Formats: sequence, structure tokens, C-alpha cells
Amino acid sequence: MSDDLPAGEMKYSFKAHVQAHGFAGDLIISSTTINDLVKSIKVLERAGIQPTNGNNSSQNTPICPVHQRPMKPSRKPGSFYCSAKVGDDYCQEKARA
Ligand SMILES: [Zn+2]
Repeated sequence: MSDDLPAGEMKYSFKAHVQAHGFAGDLIISSTTINDLVKSIKVLERAGIQPTNGNNSSQNTPICPVHQRPMKPSRKPGSFYCSAKVGDDYCQEKARA
């Protein structure tokens, strides 16, 4: 027996933001041993469930280089425009995601 192990039962929970097959969401794995936790994570990998990159909340929204503000998605998928007004016209900055 190692002195490093706690005598009582411990609970490990692991929270991750994951994506699988086009879906994304929070996933919580709980287990009472590290070994089970690692096994659970390996099962996820096999099932094609992968962690998303940390700060994915802003969805890679481009920032207008002129106005330093997040651009808005345009009706054309994958492209963004700046909604700031320049005179009587909108800002002409456009970006592709
Ligand atoms: Zn702009």
C-alpha cells in the first residue's frame, strides 16, 4: 500500500467541452478511481468524441481591423461583414471565417 493513496473513497469528475459528429456539448465523466477515468476517456476517443479547443465560445468571429469590433455573419455562409457605419454607408471590411 502506498502512503500517497487516500484511504477513503474519492470521486473524480472530469468536465470537458466535446464535439462528436457535428454536435458539441459539455460532458462530465465521474468515477471513483483515476484508472476508470482514464478508461472512460479512452472509450470516448474510440467513439469519435473529441474535446473542442478551449475558448470556442466566440466561434472564431473575425474582428474588423478598422473598428476593432466583432463582425457579423453575413447571409453568405462563412463570410462576415462589419455593421459599423462609415458616413452614410456601411463599413466595407469583409472577412471569411
Ligand atoms: Zn468596420
